[in-house]
Amino acid sequence: MLTRMMRFGLMTVVMMLAVAWTPAWGQRPVVAVGGILHESNSFHSVKTRLEDFRRPSAATAAATLDLWADNLDEIAGYVQGGRKAGLELVPAIAARATPSGPVTDAALDALTGELIAKLKAAPKLDGILLALHGAMVTESFPHGDAEIVRRVRAAMGETIPLVVTHDFHANVSPEIVKQTTVLLTYKTCPHIDQKERGLQAAEIMGRIARGEVKPVQALVKPGMLYNIRYQYTSVAPLRPIYDEELRLEKEPGVLAVSVSGGYQYADVPAMGASVIVATDGNKAQAEGIAKKLSDMLWATRDQLKLNVPEPAEAVRKAMASAKSPVVLVEMGDNIGGGSAGDATFLLSELMRQKAKGWSVSVAAAVAVAMAVKAGVGARFDGLVGGKTDKMHGEPVRVRGVVKTIYDGKFRETEIRHGGQRYYDQGLSAVVEVEGSTRDEGSYVLLTTKRMVPFSLHQLISAGILPERQKILVVKAAVAFRAAYEPVAGEIIEVDTPGATAINPQRFVWKRVRADLFGMRP
Ligand SMILES: [Zn+2]
Repeated sequence: MLTRMMRFGLMTVVMMLAVAWTPAWGQRPVVAVGGILHESNSFHSVKTRLEDFRRPSAATAAATLDLWADNLDEIAGYVQGGRKAGLELVPAIAARATPSGPVTDAALDALTGELIAKLKAAPKLDGILLALHGAMVTESFPHGDAEIVRRVRAAMGETIPLVVTHDFHANVSPEIVKQTTVLLTYKTCPHIDQKERGLQAAEIMGRIARGEVKPVQALVKPGMLYNIRYQYTSVAPLRPIYDEELRLEKEPGVLAVSVSGGYQYADVPAMGASVIVATDGNKAQAEGIAKKLSDMLWATRDQLKLNVPEPAEAVRKAMASAKSPVVLVEMGDNIGGGSAGDATFLLSELMRQKAKGWSVSVAAAVAVAMAVKAGVGARFDGLVGGKTDKMHGEPVRVRGVVKTIYDGKFRETEIRHGGQRYYDQGLSAVVEVEGSTRDEGSYVLLTTKRMVPFSLHQLISAGILPERQKILVVKAAVAFRAAYEPVAGEIIEVDTPGATAINPQRFVWKRVRADLFGMRP
């Protein structure tokens, strides 16, 4: 609660703001909601085009808001929180694409153009709630999110309240902090608090629009690449920092405290961890909290060593493990981090060591077509994976029997990383690999599109029961844990090459700060 002194202090601020932002008496503040989200991997050769973005909408504004609210992400939080805060909401656009290579200039222009057109067409706005990932790289702009905000500001004015939410993997720059009224990031990785952050952003927007608070922000960056291997907020070293973040956010006068891990596959000047703090008019308080949390991040440096086995050793360990299932994490092909989804380093090693009872999914549209042509029950003999580029291994010859063909759609009802409910990996097939027995079936799940392993229903819907397998390969880093930890007997992270290799020395860097801690493991 606010102290008497602070209440007194606030009154002056409220009066100042009343002129600028409080809507006329009896009118509800009008706030636009929307988002353009992409995490762009500088090292992935496949560009992200306009048609790669999913843009759900319905026939009317009210129906679009209802559609967006039926989700577990931050935009659902904006809608639900905005309604609760008594805001009149106007839907702009909500566009998302699976992480991949940089976004084309044409896609950036089209999406930002449509966003701004919707904002301009709305009744006079009292604020904008905007979801941006924070690690978008485009062909021309290393910091795509800052460019979107710059264009929105240029079109809508420098003073309209603009509350932006970012992913935990945002690479936050001083320029975007300066352009936003409040900027907050997800606090968790795996990201299970997206909707909560959306609700928080809407609540803050309500208070700004009614002239109750006047936010100021501070950004402190600890000068480190916080390796993705350690970006897990449920355990040390990040857990104590997460707990402190929650505690500090409850201090009087604090609006939002955000610790973000950063995204290490974007070769941009702002790459790395960040702390952003928004307070009600108290710059010194914001700076003090940001500095404190940044120092806590910096102090964990000696806990961030990379000691992860390579494929041969990892598969040996998994085969020898008494626990089951063992999850092998193919970190160099982390689909959620923007890689190809068709790496074959673990698939080939499992076959070479004649492991049994495993499953691997591979984005392989051509192999799906072969399986479909052969039909269920027919023999399959074809090359799988290693097709996108030279970074993700050689195609592997897979022989077996086509077990399942299905539409590749599945649904997640629990809160998992990403807050997504409905998934579609395109036409898919399961090949039961030669050497499988009744008790120990080995499966390759072939998908038309790349699919992030954030839901066990990806396997269950394909007829693979995770608990019955000895080894499950996931192409991921940390995000899969929300879904897989409840069933995993053991988790073994594997150091594989690829567009999301965890060792930064596997890449050639051009724009990143040379003195960043963590660039050399
Ligand atoms: Zn993320």
